Amino acid sequence: MRITESKKITDFFGCNVFNDATMKKYLSESAYRQMRQVIDCGAPLGKELANEVAAAMMEWASQNGATHYSHWFQPLTGTTAEKHDSFISIDKRGETVLEFTGSNLRKGEADASSFPTGGIRATFEARGYTAWDCSSPAFIKRSKDGAGVLYIPTAFCSYTGDALDKKTPLLKSMDAIDRQALRVLKALGVSASRVSVNVGGEQEYFLIDKQDYLRRDDLKFTGRTLFGSLPPKGQEKNDQYYASIRERVGAFMADVNEELWKLGITAKTQHNEAAPAQHELAPIFCVCNIATDQNQLIMETLKKVADNHGLACLLHEKPFAGINGSGKHCNWSLSTDQGVNLLKPGNDPSHNLSFLTFFTAVLAAVDEYADLIRMSATSLGNEFRLGGNEAPPAIISVYIGEDMENLFDKISHGVPVEQLEKQYITSGVNAIARLSKDSSDRNRTSPFAFTGNKFEFRMVGSSATLSTPCVILNTAVADVLSKIADTLEAVEPDQRGREAIELVKRLYAQHNRIVFNGNNYSKDWVKEAKRRGLEVLDNSISAYETFTRDKNVELFERHAVLTRREIESRQAIYLDNYIKSAGIEAQTLLMMGRREILPAVLTWQGRLAQQIGALGAVGKNYATVQEKMLGNLCELASKLDAQLDKLRFAKATAQQSKDVNKQAFLVRDQVLGSMAALRETIDKLETVMPRELWPYPTYADILFYQ
Ligand code: ADP
Ligand code: MG
Repeated sequence: MRITESKKITDFFGCNVFNDATMKKYLSESAYRQMRQVIDCGAPLGKELANEVAAAMMEWASQNGATHYSHWFQPLTGTTAEKHDSFISIDKRGETVLEFTGSNLRKGEADASSFPTGGIRATFEARGYTAWDCSSPAFIKRSKDGAGVLYIPTAFCSYTGDALDKKTPLLKSMDAIDRQALRVLKALGVSASRVSVNVGGEQEYFLIDKQDYLRRDDLKFTGRTLFGSLPPKGQEKNDQYYASIRERVGAFMADVNEELWKLGITAKTQHNEAAPAQHELAPIFCVCNIATDQNQLIMETLKKVADNHGLACLLHEKPFAGINGSGKHCNWSLSTDQGVNLLKPGNDPSHNLSFLTFFTAVLAAVDEYADLIRMSATSLGNEFRLGGNEAPPAIISVYIGEDMENLFDKISHGVPVEQLEKQYITSGVNAIARLSKDSSDRNRTSPFAFTGNKFEFRMVGSSATLSTPCVILNTAVADVLSKIADTLEAVEPDQRGREAIELVKRLYAQHNRIVFNGNNYSKDWVKEAKRRGLEVLDNSISAYETFTRDKNVELFERHAVLTRREIESRQAIYLDNYIKSAGIEAQTLLMMGRREILPAVLTWQGRLAQQIGALGAVGKNYATVQEKMLGNLCELASKLDAQLDKLRFAKATAQQSKDVNKQAFLVRDQVLGSMAALRETIDKLETVMPRELWPYPTYADILFYQ
């Protein structure tokens, strides 16, 4: 029975989280107060306090069925890692006791030799350390049979102090933007003692039947189908988007929500997406590092609950060719501890100096670091999605909408701007309530869109961590803000308002080439973008290369977010991952082609030949249909055989290359190219083979399951 059948959401929301209310209950009053200082103001965490918090956490966790704890971190694989230790310990008298100390809570040591480090240290120097991120709350996860583990969100670094994870630079980038934003606000006379980055990540995914999933080796090993002809009906009628949710999927969603609510994750929106079998889930936004942690838990929960329902959740960016892929929209904004959203224009934006300044800072940052922003959303999987008529192209531009464009044009020309009057939509039907109009329409084609009070970065892939785009966005904006602060601080306080307006004008004039409100899917945009001097990075390898450009390394070093060594190691890991993922795809297709598809085709050939023989014995011309089919089949079979050889050869050639960049290009052009050619032949074969002989579930089976 679901909890929601007997309880309100608010009665069990966050019950598996060591949140503020739990902390209050389990800690002494003074420890609670000190801990809030640590979390809210970054006060140092002393040994005694750590011991008390650890004891309270263990008490709470044990009462809630946890037997183990785990430092939970996000290595450079982009997923999460955990190692469980039970609370069991032996005391001095040799008795078994439960123990969880402050030092257990604060620091963990793990043999890190099997995590990717991009050459930062040799495998014999294997020590890695995990350090508690107390700003993201600990939580309990329970498996189906009830065994519970207390998870402690941590950052992960090497013995030499290099970051080996996705969290460390994220926290540093949040500090950087906080520091610089506060300088700007102070110069503008706005009071605030902290600026936070807020993020809302929308998660798209596919849900299919587990039986189909288990029968497709490509889905199991690579996350996407490597072949499959399109069913007669796909998404052309647009009848799946927002369609009523089927019972089986609804039951799955209800369980997902319940699990997430228990984990204190505000699962809010759910709907069917554009492609058949595609759906979306979005929580309410929260502070950047927590949103990133929660998104990892959302992905994990989707998979786990799907499994319990006899379903499989696909998080790959393009699991099926020919229909939409999945993304993860990263909604991003800045707010002060006084609750002011710095990207909210309000009724009188032309006099809202902080809005104008922060808005132009984002435009400038996206323009100056478009290469990094592009890189932050790239991966082998996302390459198949970006640039189709479903997702933004590989060119970074910003949609700001007509209202904002008018506003900045007027400000730039010194034309006075009236207050924005609330506009209304009239439907012409009396019974329908009057609707207020948003300040901008939607532009689904834009990679980076201003959506009223936040920016929405839409290129991110569905399986990616939110950390990478946030690190880059936070640091790039922090950098522009630091220059703005330098300029403002250099003039007398009473001149700063005027100076800020001049700065807004200058920045807008310098960077408005990045503004594009038109259709990003159109061919003309590529030409126009080139004319404007915007960089077109149409593949992952070139995008990864930009990470180590001097200006980019300087950016991260200037704000102490990443060192050159860390950047180089990350770049090496991205490239390595790209090459390995493509290698696994090639190997999977070779296996499926040689061991299943070709034998099935040969079986059908044999049967046709037998029929031709038998029919020939009865009378002349009786076997013309079979002969025609066999001729066609023989042609496709030999093509398949030759293309499988070609793929094997391409893969071997790429592997021999010593230069990693060259290897990556060989993989992309030769290996992935051979796979695309093979796919065409296999898809043709699928349409001429009898259904009962085809060894795999088809797109029709998978996408239209019951
Ligand atoms: P859409 O599908 O129209 O893009 P959704 O409502 O599905 O929008 O998701 C929007 C996401 O943006 C949600 O996660 C929401 O909480 C988040 N969001 C809303 N306001 C802000 C904000 N100020 N900063 C960051 N994220 C926000
Ligand atoms: Mg969206």
